[in-house]
Amino acid sequence: MKRYSVGIVGATGMVGQRFVTLLENHPMFEPVCLAASKRSAGMSYAEAVGERWAMASPIPAYAKNMTVCDSDPAQFPKVDFVFCAVNLAKDATRALEEDFARHEIPVVSNNSANRQMPDVPMVIPEINPEHLAVIDAQRRRLGTRRGFIAVKSNCSLQSYVPLLHPLRKFGLEAVSVCTYQAISGAGKTFASMPEIIDNVIPYISGEEEKSEREPLKIWGTVENGGIREAQAPRISAQCLRVPVSDGHTAAVSVKFHNKPTREDILAAWDSFAGEPQALGLPTAPKKFLHYLEDCDRPQPKLDRLTDMGMAVLAGRLREDPVFDWKFIGFSHNTLRGAAGGAVLLAELLAAKGYFD
Ligand code: NAP
Repeated sequence: MKRYSVGIVGATGMVGQRFVTLLENHPMFEPVCLAASKRSAGMSYAEAVGERWAMASPIPAYAKNMTVCDSDPAQFPKVDFVFCAVNLAKDATRALEEDFARHEIPVVSNNSANRQMPDVPMVIPEINPEHLAVIDAQRRRLGTRRGFIAVKSNCSLQSYVPLLHPLRKFGLEAVSVCTYQAISGAGKTFASMPEIIDNVIPYISGEEEKSEREPLKIWGTVENGGIREAQAPRISAQCLRVPVSDGHTAAVSVKFHNKPTREDILAAWDSFAGEPQALGLPTAPKKFLHYLEDCDRPQPKLDRLTDMGMAVLAGRLREDPVFDWKFIGFSHNTLRGAAGGAVLLAELLAAKGYFD
């Protein structure tokens, strides 16, 4: 298998730590540069992360003593591409990512700054791999030969969009979703967010807008070098922060043009697979969508590591007296929803020759 050298920009953060962990012994990607802000540059990775290390396993041996480098694209070591997960303001993030692309270093991003650009593909690899076609137009806009930006979607919608996707054939008309989001989604642990203990915070800045809008880009079509957003379904989202370390839960109600039966829905979920499964990509879950029959599942604590945290789970499918059907969705927010989803996207890009 061909190997690519990789930089991680924002390597000391919550998502960056996931990248560092996931890329240990990765068959295709070799992390050669761990980058962060100027505050961390020059320190060893272990020193720069310090008390912030939030993964269940210790810092991988390969990373511990690596010197954290500056995130300046002009001085960046030679890599085939970078993963980017930084907590900068939107304009600064967009400028940083474009700067990497203009220095001919492709960017696979976890940040939201470039998600709504029509020629930046926002990809859930099982759902819309065909959107990668807009990269040619983006390269023309940026004036690059190989540099480009590809993004993954917000973590919240990965707990319900994958489950709605195979049901589109029944005509999704309206969706009401309430997400119950883990604190790692805010880059926090219980130590750094004590106010969440015994509490629910009914506001996550910008999250409801992203949860309502991003699915329409994911279900959009490639037209004239850009993505034209889908017009349906109408989506109403409410997003709450809850005292869970990892894993976003979604309570979903759906109205269809042609109401399917319970068996239709379960069969559509059970049989759904995407390109990552067909290509056998290393981070692809063997089975993307799982339905759990027990009435008290899925649960973050019990189910978040299903298929390496890359599977999406559903439970409690039942008829809805206002909409047609309702169910519970679930995904691991920093694995499928962030770093794992980005690694899978990079594997897809590599398999299709975008880093060559
Ligand atoms: P975080 O824990 O706060 O980490 C932020 C990272 O950005 C740190 O490595 C920090 O380095 C680095 N950084 C700050 N300023 C920088 C600069 N000027 N140049 C380069 N690096 C800089 O944040 P996070 O939770 O990992 O989130 C990162 C991004 O991923 C955000 O855009 C977030 O919205 C997105 N995201 C997060 C999740 C999630 O579940 N957490 C899910 C999806 C998307 P220092 O250590 O040196 O300060």
